[in-house]
Amino acid sequence: MAPGSQAMHLRGVLLPAGEPGELWVTDGLICSDPVPGASTVVDGGYVLPGLVDAHCHVGIGPQGPASLAEAAEQAAIDRDAGTLLIRDCGVPTDTRPLQSRDDLPRIIRAGRHLARPKRYIPTIGVELDEPGLLAQAVQEQAAAGDGWVKLVGDWIDRSIGDLAPLWPDDVLVEAIAAAHAAGARVTAHVFGEDALPGLIAAGIDCIEHGTGLSADTITEMAARGTALVPTLINIETFPAIADGAGKYPRYAAHMRALHAGLRDAVGSAIEAGVPVYAGSDAGGGIRHGRLVDEIVALRTVGLDGTRALAAASWAARDWLDVPGLVPGAPADLLVTRTDPRLDPNTLRDPALLLLRGRAWAR
Ligand SMILES: [Zn+2]
Repeated sequence: MAPGSQAMHLRGVLLPAGEPGELWVTDGLICSDPVPGASTVVDGGYVLPGLVDAHCHVGIGPQGPASLAEAAEQAAIDRDAGTLLIRDCGVPTDTRPLQSRDDLPRIIRAGRHLARPKRYIPTIGVELDEPGLLAQAVQEQAAAGDGWVKLVGDWIDRSIGDLAPLWPDDVLVEAIAAAHAAGARVTAHVFGEDALPGLIAAGIDCIEHGTGLSADTITEMAARGTALVPTLINIETFPAIADGAGKYPRYAAHMRALHAGLRDAVGSAIEAGVPVYAGSDAGGGIRHGRLVDEIVALRTVGLDGTRALAAASWAARDWLDVPGLVPGAPADLLVTRTDPRLDPNTLRDPALLLLRGRAWAR
């Protein structure tokens, strides 16, 4: 045991099982057997695996690329809000040094966004001059990341004044196969309708945002098990994006229509059985530390309280191959005073937050 780290005993309702139980923490790890000398730090409440933000940009700030110091501050804000595992969804900053910091959430990195010139936020992504370079670029990002690669699937094409796909279908087939051969999964930013069929048919593992989902693409995702991270609190910014896009009236109208159809698109995907996970999209327009707002939002589009919480905790951990409250797993957990399945707002003021077995106060 590290100097000064006292073994702990926790007793409460353990999630996801939902039954009263107890566990111990020693050397930063969860233990199901009593540890001699452990002090009881929790007696009552709800014990759940630490929250997971499945779409978060530790390394992007309101002005674009963040310094490593700024990225560390962002990660600390997420930690204090209960996020103990982050699936980074593309950043320009190399955040590998943060992964050895015991005080920051675990980060599963995706490397840099893969885009084309003038087809994403400037300075953020790798801009490929030719779409045919995608498979090679995917291999490079797969080698540099932690098992995920992020594509920009669609973006405004100023020459037509509307959202349009970045990649031809055959390029996507080759690129996604290259990622899978390298052991990486692929996800894509997609706002509109047209990029979705090609990405899903090429075997993409996840869709980010997904506001342009239709009955057909939902059916295909459900059949394939393609995941969806809708980032609902970011979609709320679509009307403001449209307001700022006066030069492109078609694009502005399209963004407003996607916003208006959000509940239908994401709600239908949930109903069809598409696996949905919670992502805040913190980093650019969205500030860090807002994951609980996304859990609250997921309940408004059709996820019940247990599934909305699972989407930001144990189900997301399963999906990302990171353990929850099992013996030998790192003690990354929260204890809430009331049932977070009934009201996720209780997550905003946890009785205890342990990261690697160390307690953090907000
Ligand atoms: Zn994002």
